[in-house]
Amino acid sequence: MPEAGVAAKGLGRAVIFLGPPGAGKGTQARQIAESYGVPHLSTGDMFREHVSRGTPLGLRAKPIMERGELVPDDLVLSMVEDRISRPDCSDGFILDGFPRTLPQAEKLDEILRRRFQAEPLVVHFLVDQNQLMRRLTGRRTCTIGGEIYNIYDHRPKVPGRCDRDGGELVQRPDDREEVIAERLAAYERQTRPLVDYYRRRGMLKDVDGMAALGSVTKNVLEVLAQKK
Ligand SMILES: [Zn+2]
Repeated sequence: MPEAGVAAKGLGRAVIFLGPPGAGKGTQARQIAESYGVPHLSTGDMFREHVSRGTPLGLRAKPIMERGELVPDDLVLSMVEDRISRPDCSDGFILDGFPRTLPQAEKLDEILRRRFQAEPLVVHFLVDQNQLMRRLTGRRTCTIGGEIYNIYDHRPKVPGRCDRDGGELVQRPDDREEVIAERLAAYERQTRPLVDYYRRRGMLKDVDGMAALGSVTKNVLEVLAQKK
């Protein structure tokens, strides 16, 4: 298990963080990726990068995103494959919030099989519905560095300001109460089936996402250290 100040050693595999919105995947992915010195990948960041660089993928994705429509699977998967083909991913990475559907999971398996000998490991965050609502409605995101806080259980030292860079903390549009019920329903419908898909194949480890932030991190690190 990596400790603070110890040189990065990589994961040697793809690690997928799976769980409903608000389960703390993003916060944990950020910390764990830092401990292992591997990239933390989210499709949102990939899209933003392609759009700002004006790549062919970005040019295709931009109008779709501007219309607020769902980006088609082939486009998302091309972007993911492009990203994980880069040298910084050669010793593993953490995928946060992807895949979201069974077809995406199946195609991701093919891509990963070509790149890694080790099977991907899926870390599944268990959280109850009440805590999810609290986490989602309380979430505030830093406008500079993207750090995530919560006005109930992970407060910044100065209200409304990021501890790390002093950035303004805002509520993302999709963390508003009226959007949340819809996002949770979409998770149940589209993404929940992935839990069975991965569990059946022995790739999935459950982690109690309701514990304190630090002990969730510790549990994830233990899972990553034991399953080789
Ligand atoms: Zn910040």
